Amino acid sequence: MKITLHKVKLKKRFPLAISRGIRYDSENIFLRLEKDGYTAWGEAAPGSTEGVETAEEVRQILEKFISQGIEEESIYSLYDRAKAQKIPPCAYVALDTALWDYTAKKAGLPLYQVLGFSKPHTPTSVTIGINPPEVVKERVPLLLDGTTVKSLKIKLGSPEGLDVDKAMFEQVVESTQNYKVKLRVDANGGWDVPQAKYMMKWLADRKVDYIEQPLKEGQESELKHLYKNRPLPIYVDESCRFAENIPNFASHVDGVNMKLMKCGGITEALRIIATARAHGLKTMIGCMSESSVAIAAAAAISGGIDHVDLDSHYNLDPDPAEGVSLLDGVTISSDKPGHGAQLKKDFYA
Ligand SMILES: [Mg+2]
Repeated sequence: MKITLHKVKLKKRFPLAISRGIRYDSENIFLRLEKDGYTAWGEAAPGSTEGVETAEEVRQILEKFISQGIEEESIYSLYDRAKAQKIPPCAYVALDTALWDYTAKKAGLPLYQVLGFSKPHTPTSVTIGINPPEVVKERVPLLLDGTTVKSLKIKLGSPEGLDVDKAMFEQVVESTQNYKVKLRVDANGGWDVPQAKYMMKWLADRKVDYIEQPLKEGQESELKHLYKNRPLPIYVDESCRFAENIPNFASHVDGVNMKLMKCGGITEALRIIATARAHGLKTMIGCMSESSVAIAAAAAISGGIDHVDLDSHYNLDPDPAEGVSLLDGVTISSDKPGHGAQLKKDFYA
């Protein structure tokens, strides 16, 4: 087995502002695994909230882990070893997804089939960050014109308060009038309990589908105050990293949003899906600053998930990877064996 790591700068079309700050360009690590004549790919997107700040740190963490020897173990036992060593999930994910890609390539099947899921069929949301109304007015046509996008995820929870949130949301409603898009809201923990209660009612009156992460990570015990008589389904994202977190809030949410960068890969995402279902919860899959490689890995399980937010690669200019397309609103990867995506040659040759 030969593993090489490639550091690639990802340039965003539009900077993404959420309640905690603005994200500009980023640098990710791509992992290329070669074995038995197959080439498999994984990707890691570092993040300050995810335990690793830079691509260089990701590289060092992965090199150290791989140097311990990985050939003789199953994907599941390697994942458990990495977790026991407290390897940040947003670094380990590159190896986990490449191992799954390799497994599917060796089987000669698309990864979703190896995992027993149907082909991706749920339309993805496309995200609009926190912006003043005049930017929203300009941005909405740039995001939606000439596309098959069917839903928009609106980032609220502005540090400037609810009036700013409401002004932005009202502009989104006006600007999307001529597009047939559903609206979802993600507050990224930007509200307290009274603000969240007020906004959930306000947004429900405006036909929003659901609210995501109304309260900060760590305030899960407060979710019960929102859950009773809730006007909108509540999903948690930042609050749910691993399957083992789910029992902490399962009785006070409607669903969980998993991300490969938060949980460390497909191995743990499968456990999250199973645990969420066992608690009667719905599921969502989202992304961070990822190219088509990580998005393709997530798309491979999206056929078994209720809501899909696999859109970060649409905000790259250029996407350094290839193999994913938007088909009738659905983020879908090629039907080739594996997850279907790879880093373009220009970015590593
Ligand atoms: Mg979110």
